[in-house]
Amino acid sequence: MSIEVRNLQKAFGLTVVCDHLNLDIPSGELVALLGPSGSGKTTLLRILAGLEMPDAGSVHFNGEDTTGTDVRERHVGFVFQHYALFNHMTIFENVAFGLRVKPKDQRPKEAEIKSKVMQLLKLVQLDWLAERYPHQLSGGQRQRIALARALAVEPKVLLLDEPFGALDAKVRKELRRWLRRLHDEVHVTSVFVTHDQEEAMEVADRIVVMNEGRIEQVGTPDEVYDHPASPFVLQFLGDVN
Ligand code: ADP
Repeated sequence: MSIEVRNLQKAFGLTVVCDHLNLDIPSGELVALLGPSGSGKTTLLRILAGLEMPDAGSVHFNGEDTTGTDVRERHVGFVFQHYALFNHMTIFENVAFGLRVKPKDQRPKEAEIKSKVMQLLKLVQLDWLAERYPHQLSGGQRQRIALARALAVEPKVLLLDEPFGALDAKVRKELRRWLRRLHDEVHVTSVFVTHDQEEAMEVADRIVVMNEGRIEQVGTPDEVYDHPASPFVLQFLGDVN
C-alpha cells in the first residue's frame, strides 16, 4: 500500500507542527521519519494513523483519500515506544488479541488463530515463549512481541513510534538489524519515527529528515549522507549521539 501526503497542515495553537508537508512513500518501503525532538515526526505519524486530524491537506493510501476515515478502517498496525502488552495475558493471547476482537463475520476459527499466532511468534523467533507472561520477558523480547501483535491483523501499513526508544543501546542495535530482516520478509509498508540518525541509516530504505514541521530532505541513507540538502541536514547527521 503506497502512502501519499498532500499539502498537510497542522498547528497546535501558534505552533505549526506540519507545515505544508508533501511526501510519497512507495508500497513496501521501510521509511524513517528522522529529526530532533519537537520537529513534528510523531504528529505526522499520528495523522497517518488517523489518530489525529490535520487542519488541512490529505493523506491517501494507494491513491484513496483516507482523511477523516476511522482508524479501524485504515488497517494500520502500531508499535509504540512503551510496549502496551496486556500483563494479565500470555504472550500467545497478546498476539491473538487483535484476531479475537474482530467482528464476528471476520473472526478466524480457533484453529486458524492458533496457527497464525504460532507462525507470527516464529517470525519474531519467540515461539518458545508463547505460554509466558510479559513480565517474564526482557524489554527487547517484549518489543518483538508488540511487533508480532501489530502484524497479526495483516495491516496494510505498519507505524512505529520510537519503537526502540526505551531500550538500552545494545538491545537497540540488535533490534534494528532484526526489524530490517523482519521487514524484508513481510514487506508491509512501514514508517518509523526516530531521533537517532544511526538507527535511520541502518534500518530504512528511505529517510525523511524533518525540522520544525517541515521536510528538509527525502532520500536513501546514502543520498542523505553523501548529499545533505541543507545545512540543517548536514549538521543533524554530523551530530552523532
Ligand atoms: P517529535 O515527534 O518530532 O518530537 P511532535 O510531533 O511530538 O514532535 O511535536 C511537535 C510539536 O507539537 C511539539 O512542540 C509539541 O510540544 C507539540 N505538540 C504535539 N502534540 C501536541 C498536543 N496534543 N497539544 C499541543 N501541542 C502538541
